[in-house]
Amino acid sequence: MPDQSSMPSVLETFRVAGYSCLRCGKCCTRAAGDNSVYLMPDEIESIRSFLIQKNIQIDGQDISSSFTVPLFPDIYSENGDDSVFDLKKISDNLRLLQNQISEDGAVYTFGEMLKRTQNGTCVFLDTETNTCKIYDVRPLLCQTYPFFIDFYNVDLEHRSNVDVIECECDGVASVSETDNSICNELAGLLMTRARREKEDYEKMKKHIRADYFLTSGAGLSQAEDDLKNGFLRFFVCDCRGVFEIKIRVNDFFLNTVKTDGTDEKGI
Ligand code: SF4
Ligand code: SF4
Repeated sequence: MPDQSSMPSVLETFRVAGYSCLRCGKCCTRAAGDNSVYLMPDEIESIRSFLIQKNIQIDGQDISSSFTVPLFPDIYSENGDDSVFDLKKISDNLRLLQNQISEDGAVYTFGEMLKRTQNGTCVFLDTETNTCKIYDVRPLLCQTYPFFIDFYNVDLEHRSNVDVIECECDGVASVSETDNSICNELAGLLMTRARREKEDYEKMKKHIRADYFLTSGAGLSQAEDDLKNGFLRFFVCDCRGVFEIKIRVNDFFLNTVKTDGTDEKGI
């Protein structure tokens, strides 16, 4: 349990938020917009082991080696009440990121995120029951939703400068006061998350150079050509180092296959 005396404002923030999870599953979909879930490398390994150990398949597919994609800005567009994977968003984002593209067309990025389906729902959401298929090993980002703290500015030793940011969630203001045990649990999880993100960040800094993210932009046209040919290349930077990933555009999302053999579009 966290030291309550050192974090009175944090606990108070949780208390007055009146938060209780309604199990609506909206945070695992695009109901509130971009729902990308950043993963720390050790979380990726935990999820992979869990999928293998429990023999968990998603729509009949073994995705234990393909449930992540490089961190990239939003790749979905809204279509009425639905969201849809949008190739043009990738193209637009390449232009936005042109100063973090190497001369030979690879995009430098920080880490990986969870893969989603064509409509932006997390691949691990059971849409019939609104439950998480990897609940025991779900990422800290999911465990602490709808709250997060800016770990750059937190003094972890003294647990000060902790600014809690609240995301959109139907569970906020659903009760008059957040239960004490939930406040304490959230405070502990958020501090754990901040400490681990900060540790990973310090390790990652040893592997990256500032010019990865201040390139001339000359690689943009190569990246756009790659995209036309159906793939993109990334240099993924995280606490383990910098490694290259080449990904087919169609692998940015999971093409869910229904039991009758059709996919989400009924094809
Ligand atoms: S955290 Fe919020 S959005 Fe997510 S399932 Fe609970 S109530 Fe719904
Ligand atoms: S990992 Fe689980 S909790 Fe997190 S977004 Fe996916 S389904 Fe939701």
